[in-house]
Amino acid sequence: MSRATVGEMTRETIHSSNDDSTGGFCEVALARPFLQQLTYRVPADAWQAASPGARVLVPLGGKRAIGFVAALKRDSELKNVRSIIELLDPEPLFPPALLDVARWVAEYYVAPLGMVLRAALPPSLTTLRGKAGRDTAREPALRRQVIRVVRELPTLSERESLFGRATRQREAYEVLESLGGETTVSHLATQLGFSRAVLQGLVDKGLAERTTQIVSRDPFAQMGPVDSSGPRLTPTTDQAAVIRRLLEQASDDQPGVALLRGVTGSGKTLVYLELLERVVTEQGRSALVLVPEISLTPQTVSRFRARFGDLVAVLHSGLSAGERYDEWRALRDGTKRVVIGARSAVFAPVPDPGLIILDEEHEGSYKQADTPRYHARSVAAMRARLEGCLCLLGSATPALESWANVQAGKYRLYELLARVTGHTLPRVELVDLTQAREEEREAAESSATEPSPGPLIFTRRLRKSILARLERNEQVILLLNRRGYATFVQCDGCGKVWSCRQCNVSLTYHRRRRRIVCHHCAYEADPPLRCDECSSTELTYTGLGTEQVERGLGELFPQARLARMDLDTTGTKWAHFQILERFRQREVDILLGTQMIAKGLDFPHVTLVGVINADVSLNLPDFRASERTFQLLSQVAGRSGRGAEAGEVVVQTSRPSHFALQAAARHDYLAFADRELEDRLEPGYPPHRRLANVVVSGLNEEAVAEATERVADWARSLFEQANIRDAEILGPAPCPIDRLRNRWRWHFLVKADRPAVLGFALREMATHHGQLGGRLRLEIDRDPEALM
Ligand code: ADP
Ligand code: ZN
Ligand code: ZN
Repeated sequence: MSRATVGEMTRETIHSSNDDSTGGFCEVALARPFLQQLTYRVPADAWQAASPGARVLVPLGGKRAIGFVAALKRDSELKNVRSIIELLDPEPLFPPALLDVARWVAEYYVAPLGMVLRAALPPSLTTLRGKAGRDTAREPALRRQVIRVVRELPTLSERESLFGRATRQREAYEVLESLGGETTVSHLATQLGFSRAVLQGLVDKGLAERTTQIVSRDPFAQMGPVDSSGPRLTPTTDQAAVIRRLLEQASDDQPGVALLRGVTGSGKTLVYLELLERVVTEQGRSALVLVPEISLTPQTVSRFRARFGDLVAVLHSGLSAGERYDEWRALRDGTKRVVIGARSAVFAPVPDPGLIILDEEHEGSYKQADTPRYHARSVAAMRARLEGCLCLLGSATPALESWANVQAGKYRLYELLARVTGHTLPRVELVDLTQAREEEREAAESSATEPSPGPLIFTRRLRKSILARLERNEQVILLLNRRGYATFVQCDGCGKVWSCRQCNVSLTYHRRRRRIVCHHCAYEADPPLRCDECSSTELTYTGLGTEQVERGLGELFPQARLARMDLDTTGTKWAHFQILERFRQREVDILLGTQMIAKGLDFPHVTLVGVINADVSLNLPDFRASERTFQLLSQVAGRSGRGAEAGEVVVQTSRPSHFALQAAARHDYLAFADRELEDRLEPGYPPHRRLANVVVSGLNEEAVAEATERVADWARSLFEQANIRDAEILGPAPCPIDRLRNRWRWHFLVKADRPAVLGFALREMATHHGQLGGRLRLEIDRDPEALM
């Protein structure tokens, strides 16, 4: 044996010195909600090949489970240790640095290592199905049933005579229309609740047809071949300077983290591409590119594919298990060297990354909402450190955590403060909704012809701007960060608000589907006809949602071609692509949607962005509410005026003097950051102090409250005993949403000045209170993105 690793040498020694050896032992990390690892015996034949990180099939209780070798050891003091059933990976599964990244994640976020490793792998490798992990055969092509409109009904009277009292049919037809005339049967039936009989009715009337389609699972393949023949963009002077300085940093021994603050339209993507060119093409290394949500960024993805072709692996939720596994293998084996994906792509098994990029680094979706609750930005920075490569964060509105790291000298700052086109950023006007309502009322009173207005959706100011765009054949983006028709159904008689049976939240009325729906669980019901408490039939629908805006738009601008993009219209896998493609082709004049439409879109003919109500995110009970609002407004404003024509932004709000809105209107990130950092100082919120949210949940409210008190008291006395003075416990109190999917929820916050102290407290807590018993659950969310 010539060049054995340390691990192999150890085993070699064990074997030669112990003739009677039947192998050894291993600590196994299981993907189960406990931190402890379990000891198993490793038989001689597997012992030679076993390595840390390898998957093993083990007996667990009366069942079998897949776990990971966390450590190998020669002896164990335990009696009656069971043996592993099979070593599933005779070769190391992870590049060594990646295993260290996973260990760091487990330690920092106080998560079971087995759950971290599972999150880092394609699901087919960690689910028991037949012979575990061997099932990598490609699945047959997907077939799906599609139903599409074949006859349009331009007039209202036609509709009325055709449908008569078949209102469900009419609703199904209109839903289909709003989805662009085509969607899958399963979307209509399962997600939207139309019965097969209703859909058949449409077919029988000759209005729609049903066909079977064979679909490729890869939307990027569906987008057709990428054109890489076109002329490459030459970096501007500003871009070139940033690229040169970033390359300098990247060539340091320990490059660390760089933050690129570039205003919307400043050409950050070209900076990424040029850096990747050096790393991937010239140095032959690999690279990770993380984006917040892959289906929303088809344009960015296609620019990477155009440059790096077959070297690119795009990890997205539409891949089948087999395809996911294939991509994972190709990355591990080095046949693909550029990976683009959302949060979990930070664990892509590329052997030698030379660069890790996180675009839109401020996005909350980089934080995983369940165990392991890692933040991809933190993991990327740690991975870059362990791999010795540069981590590049990009954003127009950096997270305050990142900004504080710049100020503390931990991250190096690069800036692109002008748009590539040379245009200034769009003019943003804040329109006061309270004042506008007053004016509308006066106008309605003085003119008898105008009908009394319902809820004010569009102020005069916004209506005028939309109309001007339609006349000039330019495009409009409208944002309202709330889906459905109305967010409250309330009884005028007694004030009752209809809420979910399983969650303490109000139900949202969805008009097209004619259901009231919970946005947190699957609960839905028919809308009430009368109050079940006071029998009143006077019910009010309040709280504007995108569906109502869509209807309002249709009435105000019947000539405009609309598309709505929110969770309700994008239920099918490639709906995002289809909607965005129609908008790009200018088959749509007005694109209306939730925050989905605020990200990375680059459409040169959009010259107006309207925000229907900026208060929605401002009023959330969360310490990040101002920051989220500032970011969302800056992002969506950045969609306007990206082409030859200058752009304009109209923001409706009842709090026009709020500093976050004022700063967004002036595109003044620095002013926003200064003020917000100051506001967070006194309450001790991040980035000033480190934070963890500890949530206890269970079926019985009293037991939950009692357990939360107990753990919080325990944590307080821990700090006292250890004489820790720069940490504190806040609470406990019920969570803002204190019942979710039938579980009551209480929480408390742990705040500490030093990360090590916070980590210590959380690990102690998990060790002593991780298993609360009685179906109670304790969840630790370190560096939380939201406290709901
Ligand atoms: P950002 O991500 O910073 O908002 P993008 O990377 O999307 O900006 O770039 C904005 C637009 O400018 C894109 O249409 C892009 O093709 C174009 N662009 C970027 N750099 C250049 C350049 N050097 N020359 C010409 N066009 C450019
Ligand atoms: Zn009532
Ligand atoms: Zn619910």
